[in-house]
Amino acid sequence: MRNFSGHSNAAQITRTFSGMILLIILLTGISIAGVVGYRLTKNRMNDAEILISSLKRSFIDDAPDWHQWKMNSPIDTKDTYVKVSTKIPNQKHQIFYSPNTRKFLDAKEWQAPGFRNIRYRDGFGFFYRSGAESRHIYYETWTSLHDVIHIFRLILEDLLLVIITGSILGYLITAWLAHRLNRPLAALTHAAAQINHTENVSYHEALPVPIEPAEVHDLGVEINQLLQSLNEQVLRDHQFVADASHELRTPLTAIRGHISLINRRGEQHPEIISRSLEFIDHESARMQGLVENLLQLSRMDHAEATLSYQSVDTVIRETVTNYETSLPQTIDMALTPTSAYFNSANLQQILIALLSNASKYSPQSGTIQVTVLEQNDQPTITIADQGIGISDVDKNHVFERFYRVDQARSQAIPGTGLGLAIVARLTELNQAQISVSDNQPHGTIFTIHLARQLKSPA
Ligand code: ADP
Repeated sequence: MRNFSGHSNAAQITRTFSGMILLIILLTGISIAGVVGYRLTKNRMNDAEILISSLKRSFIDDAPDWHQWKMNSPIDTKDTYVKVSTKIPNQKHQIFYSPNTRKFLDAKEWQAPGFRNIRYRDGFGFFYRSGAESRHIYYETWTSLHDVIHIFRLILEDLLLVIITGSILGYLITAWLAHRLNRPLAALTHAAAQINHTENVSYHEALPVPIEPAEVHDLGVEINQLLQSLNEQVLRDHQFVADASHELRTPLTAIRGHISLINRRGEQHPEIISRSLEFIDHESARMQGLVENLLQLSRMDHAEATLSYQSVDTVIRETVTNYETSLPQTIDMALTPTSAYFNSANLQQILIALLSNASKYSPQSGTIQVTVLEQNDQPTITIADQGIGISDVDKNHVFERFYRVDQARSQAIPGTGLGLAIVARLTELNQAQISVSDNQPHGTIFTIHLARQLKSPA
């Protein structure tokens, strides 16, 4: 994981920066070569002009005096070739060549593409060609570019040297820097990989988070938060499986006990068979309810509810009317017409679960009050009973899975401890909030605030 392979961050930084250094050196070299080349060539152009003026001064008896010209010229004329043609009217046309110019002109000539006046002559090298006309005399000069080419070659050689050393040094420095900068990220990745590859762990250690750089620090913090929520989820899952097994094991043990009782004593005491079968029937029905609740809870982990804007009081009235006949208590309704976003099947299930609890944990002679009202401009439902109530400590836990208040008391009242966990999940899916409070003088009130506006499209 900590290697320096071609795909690593450090390798990419090294490649990019080495490339940039190379490009900068190349561009600088090319610019220097261009500017120097231009200046030198410009000098040659000036030289050519000076040569032509000195030539004009060296005319004696209508013919150039080459010796005089060489002596008077302010510029070295050693590598310079001149051709002078006179086309004076009524006079014989004449052509004069400076020493060696004929031989020079006989040599094969090449023109540099894009540079009209730069010529190459076989055996002589590069020259700058210049021409001028004055009083019917035509001057053509070829000034040597030897020194320009020489300087150019020196620059190119130096440039090559700078490129090679610059590239090697640039590569080494950027590789070292990239490796150094990448170290915190590589360390974090290494630590994450170690955690990832540790087998059979249910708890994941937090990663060591570097203080700098800020991005890696933030990444480490985020990963640690993720690990923490993963740990919490794992713990919750373990707890859930343990609770579910415990809840299922108790009735199963009892059922197996009764079966073995029938096996052992059923023949001699047939009267126990019907009692045991009644118990087995009751316990297996409880187990069936438990398994159904468990399935529903696990399905709801990834479920989404389709919410629509509809009348709250209508759904509540229908549900209560259908359900109240199966309850011994009287149900009072006070329903203010109001509308909210919710899923009606979900709301019915919530209401039935809360009514069933209100009935289970209240005397049969009690009254259950169901109201629909607007509280702080929020559609609100309350289910209030006059039952045994819930202590403040237990109020914090009743929505947890398998939580049953006062086990001994709960034993007498059938239940799985999953009803309110399902209710809590359903309210969440409906973007609603549920809370529990005390009723006066005794009993419990469950309050549900429904959503008037949706947080996100449902
Ligand atoms: P259960 O199947 O045990 O009723 P719930 O999740 O529905 O499971 O409720 C959890 C616990 O909360 C119950 O065991 C009970 O102790 C308590 N409880 C729920 N509703 C009421 C109520 N209306 N009055 C008193 N206690 C209640």
